[in-house]
Amino acid sequence: MPRTDVMLSDPRLAAAQETLGRVLVKAAVASAQQRVRDGLAEPGAAVDAALALLPATAGGLKGVVNATGVIVHTNLGRAPLSPAAVAAVAAAAGYTDVEFDLSGGRRARRGRTALAALAQAVPEAGAVHVVNNNAAALVLAATVLAPGKEIVISRGELVEIGDGFRLPELLESAGSRLREVGTTNRTALRDYQDACGPGTGFILKVHPSNYRIEGFTSEVPIERLTTIGPPVVADIGSGLLRPDPLLPGEPDAAGALLQGAALVTASGDKLLGGPQAGLLLGDEHLVERLRRHPLARALRVDKLTLAALEATLRGPLPPVHRSLHANVTELTRRAERLARRLGDRAEAVATIARVGGGGAPGVELPSAGIAVHESLAARLRSYDPPVVGRITGGRLVLDLRAVEPGQDDVIAAAVERACT
Ligand SMILES: *Cc1c(COP(=O)(O)O)cnc(C)c1O
Repeated sequence: MPRTDVMLSDPRLAAAQETLGRVLVKAAVASAQQRVRDGLAEPGAAVDAALALLPATAGGLKGVVNATGVIVHTNLGRAPLSPAAVAAVAAAAGYTDVEFDLSGGRRARRGRTALAALAQAVPEAGAVHVVNNNAAALVLAATVLAPGKEIVISRGELVEIGDGFRLPELLESAGSRLREVGTTNRTALRDYQDACGPGTGFILKVHPSNYRIEGFTSEVPIERLTTIGPPVVADIGSGLLRPDPLLPGEPDAAGALLQGAALVTASGDKLLGGPQAGLLLGDEHLVERLRRHPLARALRVDKLTLAALEATLRGPLPPVHRSLHANVTELTRRAERLARRLGDRAEAVATIARVGGGGAPGVELPSAGIAVHESLAARLRSYDPPVVGRITGGRLVLDLRAVEPGQDDVIAAAVERACT
């Protein structure tokens, strides 16, 4: 058995320690030694075995190919950053002028250029602020606008956002009381009017971004809610800044502000296609109160987030946008080419892709992909990089809508490998 210290001094493993650190390389060496003990590797090939076991980065998280057909997949990290955003993150990773004015040599407002980019993207907003995520934006709004007061909300909009977290409980954790009005399917202006009074902090309008209520329904648009008196806060969810013709039912920040919302909250990593962040846009004085509240400091975003957000807003359109607007003829052509290359191992299929946790629950996006044997799923997930599809009708479907065109070769190689 090759000794640990001897293996670690091998030039290739010594170089790996420079990039990955000693702990990870030692762990790979220990696993390689175990493979030798188990008779799975020759003692002379122990270093090669250790090299093969090294992770790609010290970060733990792996890049995966999203062939699920769900564009904004919460389990897969929601929005993939654009190359421009990745470059901005790399540039901000070291010391950076996030809170420093280089011309005057003085402290400057943190993230001012990212905030300016957001303000420019939505000129309808009097002011903007950015926190950790949309949940944080809502907690901050409740803490500042409704401490010990009531938040009036329709029973049709009491959303559970995922992993057991529910918006009503989140708002109550901030010290507000919820005043539910209307019914699950129908809420009228009158219901809101009857509930509002001196104890009202604000009226909250939440976009049901992960479910739909159909049939005998009615809800009250923001512009009518603003006639009642208390400020209207609109949680639009997905982070669309302007309307997208492809998603007619999806509210956008500019539209909600034009309808009179005092404050709009949204996520940065859903349809906006940027980093995890909570966007707050609205009335100048209100946003300033949010920004100055002590809790804002606990919810503040990292320099990496600010860099990625600004590049998403100012740079080329991000991958989420490309996937959403991908041409189905082109997707079909890619699927057929993949199927031809894989022969009898795969079949080109028409599929239905979804926006996902990011919004537009009813929208079906015609798409294309390949279907392979269901039993390949686990092997494709253990490929480097892992390929994640979805199982339907006893087959594993690899949907191309959220796959970068350049990753088709990875899918082909992964399937070829999984079949051997
Ligand atoms: C996704 C979502 C949230 C939670 O946003 P995070 O950024 O994940 O905290 C809140 N409200 C709505 C309507 C949502 O769609």
